[in-house]
Amino acid sequence: MNNHVTVLEIDGNALDHNLNYFKNKLEPKTKILAVVKAFGYGSDGVKIAQHLQHKVDYFAVAYAHEGIALREAGVETPILVLHPQIPNLQAIIDFKLEPNLYNFKIFNAFLALANNKLLLNYPVHIKFNTGLNRLGFWHTDIPKILASLHENNHVKVVSLFSHLAASEDLEEKEFTTNQLNNFAYIAKQFYQHLAYEPMLHILNTSGVINYAKAQFDMVRIGIGLYGFGNDANETAQLKNTHNLKSIISQIHLIKPGETVGYNRAFVAKKPSKTATIPVGHADGLSRKLGNKKHYVLINNKKAPIIGNVCMDMIMVDVTHIDCKEGDEVIVFNRQEMIQKMANAAETIVYETLTAISQRVKKELIN
Ligand SMILES: *Cc1c(COP(=O)(O)O)cnc(C)c1O
Repeated sequence: MNNHVTVLEIDGNALDHNLNYFKNKLEPKTKILAVVKAFGYGSDGVKIAQHLQHKVDYFAVAYAHEGIALREAGVETPILVLHPQIPNLQAIIDFKLEPNLYNFKIFNAFLALANNKLLLNYPVHIKFNTGLNRLGFWHTDIPKILASLHENNHVKVVSLFSHLAASEDLEEKEFTTNQLNNFAYIAKQFYQHLAYEPMLHILNTSGVINYAKAQFDMVRIGIGLYGFGNDANETAQLKNTHNLKSIISQIHLIKPGETVGYNRAFVAKKPSKTATIPVGHADGLSRKLGNKKHYVLINNKKAPIIGNVCMDMIMVDVTHIDCKEGDEVIVFNRQEMIQKMANAAETIVYETLTAISQRVKKELIN
């Protein structure tokens, strides 16, 4: 049981709002895959999936064990495993997960296993590399893939997909358009030579925002569900889903010349009041946020982080704030605050969210 007082509240209403925002950008027939990998972007993938399971068509996770956690929690929606590994293929079958087959090594291993187990039409997905150069077959692999699939009824290709390298960057429009065209060409080869038509999908959140015409049969939405679009305007239409809260454990009154925290990094210039908060770098607050690079909110006022971020706590300056031990502390509760925290840590929102560690208690509200 996790009774940590530092809590990440996941806002179910905000998730629904964001899902509907993207649904409204899409054709009614376009399916929605909710990406819940990395513990639902640093929250709780199981709670998110349980909340969304009857509102989306698919879930995606990166690794098999993330999908197993959803199945063990009773989620029955189809689950695409984006980055399966050969040692996990049996577990994928045992838990009715659907593997992405991205090269011949894993494709052949899965087909051999499916044949061996006499599976019938087991759902698989095939990924193509159209420019990201991360995971996926090359279009030149198509004849060999088709030859293996021909007259094989142990697996069924539910979808063909690819991933964009720079969907958020309109300066890369030419490159992205090229990726979209390559993908359409690959799909055409399959449709011509396969007796059935797998679903097609290539767009992530920023792909939906910038290239909605290429929605094909399904889109894969991750960061957008959690409240972030490509830019401040898009993000303003979305609601914040991740609220990180804590409390003041202790207050210290210190004299000028006294120091706070490891390496005595903060030196008081005047009589000061500091508050110690039970959230540290082991909870996901980057050490780069120390030394007044970032702040928390206490009674609606900014309290700068002073000294170094510790593993289990931070100290903040509350000299100017009327507060007491036990008062609530907001680490973040708006997208703007998360964005500022990411900027201060010299990273992107994706990393700031997924850094929230397993030690932080997670609660679904609304
Ligand atoms: C993580 C991931 C997504 C989700 O991307 P967002 O930018 O968060 O919407 C979609 N597709 C693939 C293949 C991914 O790895």
